[in-house]
Amino acid sequence: MSDRAAALTRAFIDDLRPDHDAVYLKTVEAIARDVLTVEKANADFAAARVLERLTEPDRVIAFRVTWRDDAGDVQINRGWRVQQSNLLGPYKGGLRWHPATNLPVLQSLAFEQVFKNALTGLPLGGAKGGADFDPAGRSAGEIERFAQAFMTALAPHVGPERDVPAGDMGVGAHELGLLARVWSQQAQAWGGALTGKPLCLGGSRLRAEATGYGLVYFLCAMLEAAGEGIEGRRVAVSGRGNVAIHAARKLQGMGARVIALSSRAGAWHAPDGMGAQAIDWLAEAPADQAANPPARLGLDFHEGRKPWGLEPEIALPCATQNEIDHDDAQALVRGGCKFLAEGANMPLTASAARLLARKHVICAPGKAANAGGVAVSGLEMRQNAEYARWSTDRVDKALRGVMQRLHRLVAEEGLANAALDRAGPDYHRGANLAAYRRMARATVEAGAV
Ligand code: GLU
Repeated sequence: MSDRAAALTRAFIDDLRPDHDAVYLKTVEAIARDVLTVEKANADFAAARVLERLTEPDRVIAFRVTWRDDAGDVQINRGWRVQQSNLLGPYKGGLRWHPATNLPVLQSLAFEQVFKNALTGLPLGGAKGGADFDPAGRSAGEIERFAQAFMTALAPHVGPERDVPAGDMGVGAHELGLLARVWSQQAQAWGGALTGKPLCLGGSRLRAEATGYGLVYFLCAMLEAAGEGIEGRRVAVSGRGNVAIHAARKLQGMGARVIALSSRAGAWHAPDGMGAQAIDWLAEAPADQAANPPARLGLDFHEGRKPWGLEPEIALPCATQNEIDHDDAQALVRGGCKFLAEGANMPLTASAARLLARKHVICAPGKAANAGGVAVSGLEMRQNAEYARWSTDRVDKALRGVMQRLHRLVAEEGLANAALDRAGPDYHRGANLAAYRRMARATVEAGAV
């Protein structure tokens, strides 16, 4: 970062309202560093105070969720929806049910979502929501009652033109089906108010696969830009949830070697690459059996380990935020990792990101690399509005097109604005700048409101 960008960022953060949370300020700062010099150089952007406006969400909805567990006891959770910006389209972003969910985390994710959604080129605003509810170990009945209570509180703020939530950690197609039904009942309308729904309730083909597939399409474009290919490459993927599994399947189908998948319990290692059966098994195995994969699958389980020490050439963190710390980044560099693309949202700690940049590992931020999920959500909205269902092939082609255009946009900005000693595009800067320009032009045209 130049001295001028550092000084502008310091002044900008100091001038913000003092009651912002430190976690949120870190997220804002990471974008401010890249975009403030552009804002100051453009009289219209500067006069409109674009970035400062974007840091204030349009609206934050906080609510209580009260429900009854299987024992008949009343449980109380907190729910939120941060509606950050609807400048480019209806508020759009996932719902996260996880015990570590709180308002500052959701504000950070909502702010990032505005930039991610702008990059897709689709008419999508930005939002994020969720609850501090832990679905792990809850029965199907408890999940259903929680979903009903959650949506009863949130429904008045949701709608196809207003705010279109989707899934995120702890919220998948089944939960979205339950939520969509409650919304339909309350709004006395059919749907289109949530995406990621089951196919039989108006969902889109490939929505479940979209984030993982899109990540691999983005990775292929990154490799191509560097004059390299995917075939035979050793890729470590963290997680074994929706994003990780679909990324692994796509990689395996394209001839890459998926050498690792993981969970909180440890990492599964296949030095020559996993077969389709091993990936399918890991997608399904219950937590208490996963440590003992059948021998025919050729998987070694490393208890308590992350996959980053297994010497991948390419790393795809697809589990959760801050999952790669400084030591993990060091392990990646030592093992010869050359590329990293974020399937999860914000999976690198700040010091891990700095280290990888210093060591010339080419890294793509989640707001670009994992935008395939929200992009197919955008296509689901379009299908719902048309009362149509597209074929798998049509959705896949559209997803591929979005990821390739997005890569080109981000790589061009990232090359034009990279430091001189950089080998390739600075994807972080590229993504922040490309998204900022879209938001800034719209902000200026929209006037002061
Ligand atoms: N939660 C996903 C994301 O982080 C998907 C959001 C959506 O489809 O609205 O982008």
